[in-house]
Amino acid sequence: MNRAVFLDRDGVINAALYNPVEGKLDSPYRLEEFRLLPGAAQAIRHTNSLGFLAIVVSNQPGVAKGKCDFAFLETLEQRLRWELAREGAYLDAIYYCLHHPQAQVESLRLLCDCRKPQPGLLLQAARELNIALSGSYMVGDSPTDVAAGRAAGCRTILLSDAVNGQRPHFVAVDLAAAVQVIAEGRR
Ligand SMILES: [Mg+2]
Ligand SMILES: [Zn+2]
Repeated sequence: MNRAVFLDRDGVINAALYNPVEGKLDSPYRLEEFRLLPGAAQAIRHTNSLGFLAIVVSNQPGVAKGKCDFAFLETLEQRLRWELAREGAYLDAIYYCLHHPQAQVESLRLLCDCRKPQPGLLLQAARELNIALSGSYMVGDSPTDVAAGRAAGCRTILLSDAVNGQRPHFVAVDLAAAVQVIAEGRR
């Protein structure tokens, strides 16, 4: 069976952007706002070399909320893959939850089991890619990432000291430090 490092996207691989309307960090919705975080590509290359699958699991309700369209999501994904490839890094898979309980787009308005903190994206990846979840890690910058990883039975690493009640197994300052924890086999 495979082992995976599940990666949240915004705030872990690329910069999240402060949305003043919602008063919280949000995804980039314009290509020129997309910026890889320092060291992220190298950390994913390190993940690749360790023999873990590198898999993005990300809530992306932007389409549901009318902030962008599907084509933009794909464009951003191509940009992400291209910027990683330039550094010799790759993602084995990308899974999105596109749903939101208050979506404007009716087909995406539902209480799903894949929106983190639910573990659905990780469970789907595990089924499709033959992943042993207990040997895998979830790396995120939000308590919802920790909750999803724990619910799936993974070890969890939070890239923050803002824990907000979700206790991660590890806290790291950035993705490179998180992958170092994994490389050392810390449990
Ligand atoms: Mg995030
Ligand atoms: Zn969902």
